[in-house]
Amino acid sequence: MEKKNLDWSNLGFGYRQTDYRYVANWKNGAWSEGELTTDATITMTECAGVLQYSQSCFEGLKAYTTEKGQIVVFRPDLNASRMADSCRRLEMPVYPEDKFVEAVKAVVRANAAYVPPYGSGATLYLRPFMFGSGPVIGVSPAPEYQFRIFATPVGPYFKGGAKPLTIRVSDFDRAAPNGTGHIKAGLNYAMSLHAIVDAHNQGFNENMYLDPKTRTKVEETGGANFLFVTKDGKVVTPKSPSILPSITRRSLMVVAKEYLGLEVEEREVYFDEVKDFAECGLCGTAAVISPVGKIVDHGKEICFPSGMDEMGPVTKKLYDALTGIQMGRIEAPEGWIQVIE
Ligand SMILES: *Cc1c(COP(=O)(O)O)cnc(C)c1O
Repeated sequence: MEKKNLDWSNLGFGYRQTDYRYVANWKNGAWSEGELTTDATITMTECAGVLQYSQSCFEGLKAYTTEKGQIVVFRPDLNASRMADSCRRLEMPVYPEDKFVEAVKAVVRANAAYVPPYGSGATLYLRPFMFGSGPVIGVSPAPEYQFRIFATPVGPYFKGGAKPLTIRVSDFDRAAPNGTGHIKAGLNYAMSLHAIVDAHNQGFNENMYLDPKTRTKVEETGGANFLFVTKDGKVVTPKSPSILPSITRRSLMVVAKEYLGLEVEEREVYFDEVKDFAECGLCGTAAVISPVGKIVDHGKEICFPSGMDEMGPVTKKLYDALTGIQMGRIEAPEGWIQVIE
């Protein structure tokens, strides 16, 4: 298989159309036989549930070329089960989890020419998503749905290495108590756009959202979970029913405990304790971990001892271990890496 002629080391984080995507349609209570198609466009009724009432959810994962030259995907079964949770909460039909994983692999295999080579820093980003495609005018779940997966090659999220971010405590909420914060619904992102544009205009990289009910506890940012490191080297991540369960964060907690021998805690984290942590990072598929150097709470600054030049030492170890597992340099826990044949 000949690779596409792309400048792999200089890819940005944006959409680039690739050759194949996967499509399956749900109609009359059943999924069609899914298939690969070269058609990157979607035609549907103007009255589609997704267009009128935002009935949609999505996933994000990556395919990598390992050190040995194999193409692999990282824990796609967790994306399948998380998407199933999203669908149930949004009254959408679940795409069978085993078929989801097979479809991910089929899309990677069909677009193997777009999987960036080992060492380029780039990866093939996969975007499974589902939306209400049938007409609704009275408020109700759509009568028809489409499930799709496309692939797009992306560069490292942070070019030239990860510089620590400055984030602010947001006055906006990301999720409602008992709402949809724990599922990957497009509507959560639509709601967060104003807050992130405003944060950028004020010179901040991201928003830290507090728990919507009491505004005393740390939740997450618009698209990444928090990890903190205590001064005595314990790894702490906030627990809340309105946090999106990041696969990267869950994997990092396992890596911290099993590979680095660190103590780990998933628990409520009060904003008041944040000033006492030694390191802070944001975790998600796109960047793995982005270090946070400074948090600004209405003018009051919390500066982490790790500073504004580089990742904290524990954050760096976690980053190196997880990316080592993903790139095949370090042996993975059973079932984390699925090879594309
Ligand atoms: C997708 C997402 C994350 C990161 O999850 P990963 O599975 O690690 O990519 C974190 N927070 C929110 C709100 C998300 O939508």
